[in-house]
Amino acid sequence: MTKIALVTGAARGIGLATTKLFLELGWQVAMIDRDLPALDSASADLTGAQKFYCDVSIPAEVEATLPAVLKHFGQIDALINNAGVADFGPIEDTNFTRWRTVMETNLDGVFLMTQATIPALRQSRGAVVNIASISGLRASTLRVAYGTSKAAVIQLTKQQAVELGEYGIRANCVCPGPVRTKLAMAVHTQDIIDAYHDAIPLNRYGSEREIAEVIVFLASDKASYVTGQIIAADGGFDSTGVGLPALRH
Ligand code: NAD
Repeated sequence: MTKIALVTGAARGIGLATTKLFLELGWQVAMIDRDLPALDSASADLTGAQKFYCDVSIPAEVEATLPAVLKHFGQIDALINNAGVADFGPIEDTNFTRWRTVMETNLDGVFLMTQATIPALRQSRGAVVNIASISGLRASTLRVAYGTSKAAVIQLTKQQAVELGEYGIRANCVCPGPVRTKLAMAVHTQDIIDAYHDAIPLNRYGSEREIAEVIVFLASDKASYVTGQIIAADGGFDSTGVGLPALRH
């Protein structure tokens, strides 16, 4: 039977690459995004994908979207909580509005989407894959809201795995390293780009496809005994300590 993935933030970047990989493997995909023009153009020539306009941070929109997805596809086998926003700034400059804007999408959105999808995932004994970040594993400057939201997603994944396991639902988390998407390029200055290259053992940014491969694996039956795991797809960044740039030079 054809499997159905629901991918949030599917209009571009990692979400779009994940959508395309699912389609290549014979899945069908519910593409969710709040950027209507981007979603229209991204989904236009994708056979097997259906677009749904939804802001995952707004409870009423989430509540309205899940029945629409189920009406169209009849089932959901995997939920990919990928939609995210980035806003880098010093703690003193991060006012409550900026903090909430990051939390609303990155944390509330994952909570709301997963809660709303549980009945369908119980039926399919399906999987949740949450997209956090290396910024949720390692602290750095300017990421008070972003890094904290992603660390919370890591903990939320473990909560989901523990509670939803008895329904046969798996929940795992992918922590991407830097990828040249619109989100990253808006907050990565040239200094940050250079520093990442230096500090990453593989010495480069990742591609959207490399992150998608890990997401799709965790969503698939190949990972049928894997739940509650946090997987960094980060070129080794999470493993490094001091000294790598010095050795390199
Ligand atoms: P992107 O900006 O290219 O794409 C994000 C998509 O999510 C956009 O289409 C946007 O419209 C959508 N979106 C944002 N908020 C939404 C909301 N509330 N409701 C519905 N849709 C929403 O970003 P990306 O780099 O592909 O990021 C995807 C995920 O990967 C994010 O969770 C991000 O935090 C994470 N991530 C990215 C990087 C990186 O370097 N690019 C690194 C680590 C983690």
